[in-house]
Amino acid sequence: MTTEIEIPTAKNYPNASVAHFGPLEKWKETRVPLKQTGDVYPGKTWIKDLLGLTGLELSLSSMPAGASVPYEHIHDQNEELYLFLSGKGQMKLDNKIIDVEAGSVVRVDPAAVRCWRNTGTADLVHIVIQAKAGSLMQWTAEDGTITSQEPNWE
Ligand code: ZN
Repeated sequence: MTTEIEIPTAKNYPNASVAHFGPLEKWKETRVPLKQTGDVYPGKTWIKDLLGLTGLELSLSSMPAGASVPYEHIHDQNEELYLFLSGKGQMKLDNKIIDVEAGSVVRVDPAAVRCWRNTGTADLVHIVIQAKAGSLMQWTAEDGTITSQEPNWE
């Protein structure tokens, strides 16, 4: 079966980049190859290179009912955060199996052996954020500065 792959493009601004992936049910149709390997993972879209991110990697994923990641993996330096947006599934974390569903947020240490699968009847839509463990120096309001200009939408 030949699948038409829609590769999104980003629009770049002086201090920002924007790409549109549409509603969650469309995420399974868009995908961006992993630059290091050129591999295209069905239903997985890598964002770092597309948007020019410099401090984290992020992927948008939509896994069909009954599917599983076909391998387990660990990371060298990066912790991962899995945000499940719709569907039901399970994560295997160092041989501990946990149920996940829309609204589940899972932090995973680099050394944890991980895998996940869709145990529901609908797509398991999720986001995976990857950033260097221990790299965050300031966060939330500590890292924000309110500017003197009030919002002007015109
Ligand atoms: Zn990973």
